[in-house]
Amino acid sequence: MRKTLYLKFVLAYILFGIFGFIMVASVISNMDLDHEKQVQADALLTEATTIANTYAADLYNSEASIDSVYTQLGALSSYNNARILILNPSGRMVVDSAKELDPDVAVTVEGFDPADFSGSPYLEGTFYDTFDEDQICVLAPIASNYRTVGYVIMCYPMSLVVASTQQVLQISYVELLILLLLSVIILIFFTEIVYVPLRKITKATEQYAAGNMHYTFTVDSEDEMGYLAASLNYMAGEIAGKEDDQKKFIANVSHDFRSPLTSIHGFLEAMLDGTIPPELHGKYLKVCLNETDRLTKLTNDLLTLNNLNTRGMILNKTDFDLNEMIRQVAASFEHQCHTKKITLSLVLTGKELYVNADAGRIQQVLYNLVDNAIKFSHPDSTVKVETTERGHKVFTSVKDTGIGIPKEDQKLIFDRFYKTDLSRGKDKMGTGLGLSIVREILRAHGENINVVSTEGVGSEFIFTLERSNYNDALDENGSSHEETE
Ligand code: ADP
Repeated sequence: MRKTLYLKFVLAYILFGIFGFIMVASVISNMDLDHEKQVQADALLTEATTIANTYAADLYNSEASIDSVYTQLGALSSYNNARILILNPSGRMVVDSAKELDPDVAVTVEGFDPADFSGSPYLEGTFYDTFDEDQICVLAPIASNYRTVGYVIMCYPMSLVVASTQQVLQISYVELLILLLLSVIILIFFTEIVYVPLRKITKATEQYAAGNMHYTFTVDSEDEMGYLAASLNYMAGEIAGKEDDQKKFIANVSHDFRSPLTSIHGFLEAMLDGTIPPELHGKYLKVCLNETDRLTKLTNDLLTLNNLNTRGMILNKTDFDLNEMIRQVAASFEHQCHTKKITLSLVLTGKELYVNADAGRIQQVLYNLVDNAIKFSHPDSTVKVETTERGHKVFTSVKDTGIGIPKEDQKLIFDRFYKTDLSRGKDKMGTGLGLSIVREILRAHGENINVVSTEGVGSEFIFTLERSNYNDALDENGSSHEETE
């Protein structure tokens, strides 16, 4: 396509040029000749009619001498480049502007028949062999006493008609040449505006088809071509980004699966070959069990993420009491809180707070946030879960006074597998997928999550949910803040 489009255009241009010249040389040339003959014939006829009505009529009425007629016709003949003849109806020549006739010698135009002129305004040829070369001849009758007494014939050489046609034709050729040269500008514009960008786009699509999605190119124009190029670049960039993400994702998954498997393998081997004595087997089997728990959590998290991605926006939204859900989630962390001596403080808006969302998914959001807050809190500290209403939104905050998140990590913690260096020592079971799941769920709901954190001071995660209409009925009874520990 790349070669042929340009070739086709150049070929069309050359054909246009050749066709133009053929047209000028044939059709236009013939049209010009016909037109020139007509113009000359009209001029000759006007002249001949004037002569027939004046000098020739005078001659037949004996009002002018033949000599004076010769003088007048001679002048008119050289002025018009035409030969003027006066003939009797029988064909006998009375006057010939080219030569004086001897009155005693009768010169007759053999075969002269005025009827030959009736079909066309002029006759083309040698005028009954009177001339050596072709002429255009016109005829004007001389009338006297309502009778035709003779004819004025004016003949103009065809060679002169052709010569003046050639001049006009030359102008047409020059015009055509100028037109062709000007149309080269169109060719140049086509090359610059259409062909060059199209070649770039074609080359890029070939690269993309070959799998090189990182290939970039520029088309500096603001028209459809530029827009198409920008869209292609954008599309390739997006696909390349997705490919990179996928590679990173697979690398992370492999890495996170490999380390627990390596340690399980190591411990089991050491137990089998006796490196670990039988009395220590219990201790190391517990370690192996822990590692399998980690693998199970990783697999579950991956499945959850995968479901969220493939199912997209399909959510099972219902009206449910968020406060009650928070209480239930808090209860499920009782054992962990007790072990770490952490107080879980719930500051909830009123007794009930209905939201419209997918209850199962929101429970997972709360679970992941509270789990993180407890994991990254120091012992003997407090984790606070608070709900507030603002307009038709409900804000839920999960706040701890733990290790905090460095500023540079705050944007990255929602990415898959991302863990801050600070947290690595504190949480060996973590997969780095919890917050990605949280973000995906809230995104599917069209809601937001933000983090406010200071390293060494603590973190607060706040997310929004849509308030349910069911609250309006409850609001009539008034709402209050309920605090529990
Ligand atoms: P994980 O399953 O490992 O907890 P998450 O996606 O939930 O993964 O969290 C990603 C990382 O964000 C954690 O490894 C940790 O570094 C950081 N993080 C999340 N929540 C907190 C928090 N409350 N305090 C400090 N760091 C946190």
